[in-house]
Amino acid sequence: MTPKTFLALKNNPKVDDLSYEPDNSSKEINPETGHEFEVGSIYWVYLATGWYHDDEGKHLVTGSNLADIHEQMREIQPCECDQCLSQKEQNKDTP
Ligand SMILES: [Zn+2]
Repeated sequence: MTPKTFLALKNNPKVDDLSYEPDNSSKEINPETGHEFEVGSIYWVYLATGWYHDDEGKHLVTGSNLADIHEQMREIQPCECDQCLSQKEQNKDTP
């Protein structure tokens, strides 16, 4: 099941879409927090037009756990690459 805290990201204006690939087969305990986390699971956060995460210039945030995702969400910055700018132009034309 996709965690509610992850689905809540959908309300973030910087987020376009979400994807989650669970792998409950492998879990580890974080030695610092004592919390169990999934090792093989992958969370994808597709950023909305005009935002980017400084991960090889991708409009995407990926992580193996929610703490990782939320950490990276703080690093999202406004994007003015050609792709985002042309996308914004297109959106202007659609009512
Ligand atoms: Zn961009």
